[in-house]
Amino acid sequence: MADALETALAQAETLLEWPQTPQWQLERPELLTQLQRVVAAPDFLAPEYHPFAAEVTFEGSWYGLKVRGLIDRVDRKGEQLMITDYKSGTSKPQGVQDAGGRLSLDLQLPIYLQAALPSLWPEFRPAGAAYFSLRSARVIDRVRLPGSELEAFVERVHAQLSLGALPPRPDPALKACEFCRFEAVCRGGARAARKVAPWA
Ligand code: SF4
Repeated sequence: MADALETALAQAETLLEWPQTPQWQLERPELLTQLQRVVAAPDFLAPEYHPFAAEVTFEGSWYGLKVRGLIDRVDRKGEQLMITDYKSGTSKPQGVQDAGGRLSLDLQLPIYLQAALPSLWPEFRPAGAAYFSLRSARVIDRVRLPGSELEAFVERVHAQLSLGALPPRPDPALKACEFCRFEAVCRGGARAARKVAPWA
């Protein structure tokens, strides 16, 4: 893989018609060095696994919800499949709200494992899923499947959808609002804080 990086990057540049600006000429060697470090890292590929698929789109069903997405990489060992999701930073993504309202319940990897793999390759066995940081070249978290918490989340979603009741209910620290573009619609901020959902 390390030996193939230079050629693969050149192919990607051609495919994307990447502009060869002076800035890119400076950034390119840095990127190659970073990629070399990533593929050489022990966490990059689990022992005895080999890359099986990359950038795969999927649609499936998860606890009765229709889901779709795109998986960065799937590795295979015999009949087992392992998922890797790349992160450019060093922290895993915010989850959805847990029972206490904190954004700690990860859905992405459970959906990949429980909905995407069975939908794409039902003949194989899902073996695991992990977030891999490209910056630190290591696994930053692995999939957890807290069945009762995931079921409670889905039940809440089903209830809200069936009732058509979707009052704003951001997490107490308002982290979800930091990058949200719908503040004008939900009237976020102090007003949203006063309008608490009945099940909160
Ligand atoms: S700004 Fe409004 S819609 Fe966006 S996350 Fe916050 S509460 Fe939800």
